[in-house]
Amino acid sequence: MPLNHTHFIDVLCVGAGTYDLVYSVDRHPQPDEKIRATSFVGCGGGPAANAAVTVARLGLQAAFVGYLGNDIFGTAHIDELKLAGVYTDLVARGASSSALSVVMVKPDGSRALVNYRKPESFLATGSVDFSSVDTGVILFDGHEPYISPALAKFARGKGISTVLDAGSIHSGTEELAGLVEYLVCSERFGLDFTGAISADRALEKLGTYAPNVIITLGEKGLLWKNRAGSSHLQAYKVKAVDTTGAGDVFHGALAACLAQKKDWLESLGYANAAGALCCTKIGARVGIPTKEEVEAFLARQGGGP
Ligand code: ADP
Repeated sequence: MPLNHTHFIDVLCVGAGTYDLVYSVDRHPQPDEKIRATSFVGCGGGPAANAAVTVARLGLQAAFVGYLGNDIFGTAHIDELKLAGVYTDLVARGASSSALSVVMVKPDGSRALVNYRKPESFLATGSVDFSSVDTGVILFDGHEPYISPALAKFARGKGISTVLDAGSIHSGTEELAGLVEYLVCSERFGLDFTGAISADRALEKLGTYAPNVIITLGEKGLLWKNRAGSSHLQAYKVKAVDTTGAGDVFHGALAACLAQKKDWLESLGYANAAGALCCTKIGARVGIPTKEEVEAFLARQGGGP
């Protein structure tokens, strides 16, 4: 799987690409109840694909590696990725339907989500030929469990940074947690994976798996730990209308900072700002900020949250 110098990609994002049907609702429906949405947005989604668009909006070269079906959702999604400037030559298409998510967002920004993905659509070990690309950072979301571990092992010692977005526990995230340089997980993953009773304790335990660990805590910000120390960073105060995708944007922005070899605390602050800005618009993809928007936001905030 040699990564030669044919096409340089700052961040290779490996994992899920879905299509999101996002409904704004006053409340979530009860069993057997039919309710009307107040607005609707249809757009591409999925942690790795969202992260790839984030990297591109932040002005860097991004590629998405994953599966999109040969259906209207897959076609709409790949067109969106191309429009955003994401490299799509490594996207696999096939007869299995695209993964779909129905998202219902309440006025306070909280969401309910149903996702479907056909098991046949997972990419088989060795099925992606990476010989046409070279990269600085690989971001995994764990949703391509057969191709990801070998790629993470390959990246080791090659100067390629690896990041895992660990949202929930499944075979993909469990194996990758001990293989990556940057383990970035949700609070739920941190607690479930370690059995710890608090995020602080989870952070300690996760430090035995990866040299750099971040636990994102939504509106409570994040915890981090590495060789340099450990600390808590508060979230920026924003009017959150939809938190869908905040984590994806955070991970994409962090990977973009790593690709630019930015300072650790500056990278955390930048990703924290990008994640917060994503919450200010309905629809994960719609809310992904540009480089200019993040920089203007950081300038307005002055010394941080
Ligand atoms: P996920 O979407 O994976 O569950 P989180 O909800 O933990 O991820 O959010 C990731 C990051 O996005 C947070 O660490 C924070 O930087 C930012 N973020 C999320 N929700 C908010 C919010 N309500 N206000 C401000 N920032 C937020």
